[in-house]
Amino acid sequence: MHAENIREHLRKFTRLPHLAGTLQNLRLAEQIQKEWLAFGLDSAELVWYDVLLSYPNGTKPNYISIVDQHGEEFFKSLLAEPVPEGYEDLTDIVPPYSAFSAQGKPEGDLVYVNYGRTEDFFKLDREMGINCTGKIVIARYGKIFRGNKVKNAMLAGAKGIVLYSDPADYSAVGVEPYPAGWNLPGGGAQRGNVLNLNGAGDPLTPGYPAKEYTYRFSPEEGLGLPKIPVHPIGYNDAARLLKNMGGTASPPDWKGALNVSYNIGPGFSDDSKRNIRMTIHTYNQVTRIYNVIGKIRGAQEPDRYVILGGHRDAWVFGGIDPISGAAVVHEIAQASGKLMQRGWRPRRTLIFASWDAEEFGLLGSTEWAEDNAKILQDRAVAYINADSAIEGMYTLRVDCTPSLQTLVYDVTKQVGSPEVGEEGMSLYDSWHKRDNWTDNRDAPRINKLGSGSDFEAYFIRLGIASARARYTKNRKDTYSNYPVYHSVYETYEIVEHFYDPTFQRLLAVARVRGGLIFHLADAPILPLNCLEYAHALIQYAHGILKIAQKHPEAMQRYTVSFDALFSAVNNFTNAANDFHQRLKKVDTTDLLAVRMVNDQLMYLERAFIDPLGLPDRPFYRHIIFAPSSHNKYAGESFPGIYDALFDIESAVDPARAWDEVKRQISIAAFTVNAASNTLNPVA
Ligand code: GLU
Ligand code: ASP
Ligand code: CA
Ligand code: ZN
Ligand code: ZN
Repeated sequence: MHAENIREHLRKFTRLPHLAGTLQNLRLAEQIQKEWLAFGLDSAELVWYDVLLSYPNGTKPNYISIVDQHGEEFFKSLLAEPVPEGYEDLTDIVPPYSAFSAQGKPEGDLVYVNYGRTEDFFKLDREMGINCTGKIVIARYGKIFRGNKVKNAMLAGAKGIVLYSDPADYSAVGVEPYPAGWNLPGGGAQRGNVLNLNGAGDPLTPGYPAKEYTYRFSPEEGLGLPKIPVHPIGYNDAARLLKNMGGTASPPDWKGALNVSYNIGPGFSDDSKRNIRMTIHTYNQVTRIYNVIGKIRGAQEPDRYVILGGHRDAWVFGGIDPISGAAVVHEIAQASGKLMQRGWRPRRTLIFASWDAEEFGLLGSTEWAEDNAKILQDRAVAYINADSAIEGMYTLRVDCTPSLQTLVYDVTKQVGSPEVGEEGMSLYDSWHKRDNWTDNRDAPRINKLGSGSDFEAYFIRLGIASARARYTKNRKDTYSNYPVYHSVYETYEIVEHFYDPTFQRLLAVARVRGGLIFHLADAPILPLNCLEYAHALIQYAHGILKIAQKHPEAMQRYTVSFDALFSAVNNFTNAANDFHQRLKKVDTTDLLAVRMVNDQLMYLERAFIDPLGLPDRPFYRHIIFAPSSHNKYAGESFPGIYDALFDIESAVDPARAWDEVKRQISIAAFTVNAASNTLNPVA
């Protein structure tokens, strides 16, 4: 694999906007299909679905205004971002909008709700006594998935929500705004969907692939759609809205970096007759999307699949998100083709996927998972996600299932550090030096998987071992994500000038992602480690117990015990240890014996799936991991128990609430025991 090739792929895939559902994104799918075939993949197909997407009205713009007592608009937010140099002639740059926003023209007093997190609304309601009912709220972007902010605003009774990027969260100190640096300019804004799908995929066809014959809910019945208008703005406009806010003063940690008071409101201090108005004409439309599915048939075990998937659709150019990732997938596909020309063929089948409509709620990947669920649950060994390959210039970031941790460490020990001055050092050592997992072990940090990208249906719905890896920023940096995220400033040039001028970091990520799929596809014994799962379960069990123990009296009154869970974790640990011992003695020339242990390894992740799903989240079926109910991006362990315990001190009916905790503990205990049984000798 070569840095220069990755540069070329990034260059050619980011020339034009590639929004899901547009002709340009179909053309890009066809180009990728053609090139994968030319690289030598056995097949490459376009697989389409008709899903609900959302676009701004081309003739009636969306905006936020301040209106006087006569209803006259005397301030209007920007209708588009200033376009970066060299891209002025393009006509199809979609202006910043919140995909799937409700339509409408709500008008009212403004309330500042900080990040719009659960704890922020708790504080407003319980400590400050501020009622958001009938108000328009303004939340700063950052910390959590924007869809959760919108859900919280709806629950608080708001009739609209404005999202904005505060320089405290979207400007790194000492860095210039793009194009002089990589900060978000004041006229830039973050696009993004504001759904609460909980893993459903296309809002109109939950559970089933969105084909021509598929039954569709009516648009009003669509899953996870917000009921209020939502709109994103940049910090220049936000400063105008937040200037002269009246009402209560903010707590210190609610203050961003704008030169305004950050008063909470409601309304303005200087002129109480002024109102905020949102004008939103965004509409939903069923639209055809296209995944590209490429395959290399396995030589010995063609019925075992290793999947490398990442999205292709972008809000605009996708310089970072997702094309830095798609360029890496392209290079891995090309490298695979070259190996095949030299006679190589993987032991297992490799599947390459270029997903569509990730930005609209992980739609392409989820529909394909629904379409192929029966096959995947029987045959998929692992899923490696390949969204953006870089979000910072500091070190590696890996989120994966515990059973893949050992492989991640082994692979990164074989890859060189891309950092200047670290020639000859391994990526593992470079990563370890920068991000030690101190609270867990002396090794580089690995995180739990959350969601917000295409691995979700594979890991959390189907129970396929999954991982993601990318280059990231220093954890100590306080800005959120990367500043230009989902703006028009995500160009090829921002990567070339700032994030990775030599493309060595993207090359290192390509080697990690590629190393993972090649080992998973080729190793005679699957490189999945059940001991790591045991270790993680012990930690998670102690973690959730600790949360429950914040309520010692209630635990006693309602006789809440975690004994069954600890006993299950103990059984799992013993089963994993024994399995590991037996694995060392497997006769690797006995193909049937190898296949038997491999099936136990492959199906271990599947064993954590509960077909009934988590409470009110039927498509989140993994009992050990789920996206946090308060932040889709974050992973929660033992999510059923966690949610049952959440804010339990405020439960109206404590006996019932603690009963649910007990039910969730029993489900977790059963599931861990059932999983541990799959590791026992088969007869
Ligand atoms: N990755 C996209 C985002 O963060 C979509 C996430 C999702 O819908 O889960 O906006
Ligand atoms: N960049 C986001 C992530 O990978 C996902 C997205 O916005 O596409 O977390
Ligand atoms: Ca569907
Ligand atoms: Zn994105
Ligand atoms: Zn992405």
